[in-house]
Amino acid sequence: MVSFGAIKYVKMEILKSSAALIAWRNQCQSSSIGFVPTMGALHPGHLSLMIKSKIDNDKTLASIFVNPTQFNDPKDFLHYPHTLDADIKLLEELEIDAVFIPEVADMYPEVAVENFHIPILTESLEAKMRPGHFDGVITIIRKLFDLAQAHHVYLGEKDFQQLSIISAWVKKEKRSEIIVPCPTHREASGLAMSSRNQRLQPSQLTEATLLFEILNTVKENKLDNTPIEWELWARSRFAQSPAFRLDYFEIIDADTFGPVAAWEDSQKPIAVVAAFLGEIRLIDNMRL
Ligand code: AMP
Repeated sequence: MVSFGAIKYVKMEILKSSAALIAWRNQCQSSSIGFVPTMGALHPGHLSLMIKSKIDNDKTLASIFVNPTQFNDPKDFLHYPHTLDADIKLLEELEIDAVFIPEVADMYPEVAVENFHIPILTESLEAKMRPGHFDGVITIIRKLFDLAQAHHVYLGEKDFQQLSIISAWVKKEKRSEIIVPCPTHREASGLAMSSRNQRLQPSQLTEATLLFEILNTVKENKLDNTPIEWELWARSRFAQSPAFRLDYFEIIDADTFGPVAAWEDSQKPIAVVAAFLGEIRLIDNMRL
């Protein structure tokens, strides 16, 4: 512990194995624990989750693990940005209590991936475009949650389908973690912050704002068209932009993930989009 007069800062614990995390967790006893799972290459969006956790809990645990089983595209896994030294520095500056940075062999002594199914939610959008992705997500989330035994877990609305599926899984399994959804952090341009943005060229960073511009136009002018007309309009905007290859643009109900034919059909309409800009896949969403 370093003491500056009345200010006490306990240096962040860097936990490199499950055994180290279990030992740290045992020491915490009855403190309330906030957990922020990440794949690293941290940006201010991640840090906003950490700050929320610090406000809500006695102790905050972060994890950095690029989970191989959730990558359906081997190239995406290979090129996923790794900035571990900078990440640790950022977490120390935020005075996070501990960070868990396990090895793949520690998380996967066996390669089995579990299967979690909820109609529509685990069948549509990201699930359809990235087969097996959410099975990998749930597999690693169970392992991390079991080790962390957190009271609160902070997840970003940026990955809206992931947030919905993990929330549904926690409910179905009657787990005690409280999932805290956190708003999407954006660049001044509107571009949703993402670790993958690090792989965009400067000119692509400007082009990438198209997702936000389209979502925002729909939100601002929602009642001018039906949801289906907006979907067609958004798809044609992407079709006119040769730099992009659209995976999907849909307006769905945020609870059921079902389609929204008319605005009156949904209390919680949300527009969701995924598109490739060159090799980089971008996703975003906006409540309407
Ligand atoms: P990742 O490292 O991409 O797996 O993200 C770790 C957590 O940070 C997930 O819960 C994400 O939804 C969340 N996150 C990622 N980007 C943002 C963002 N721009 N704003 C808020 N949360 C985010």
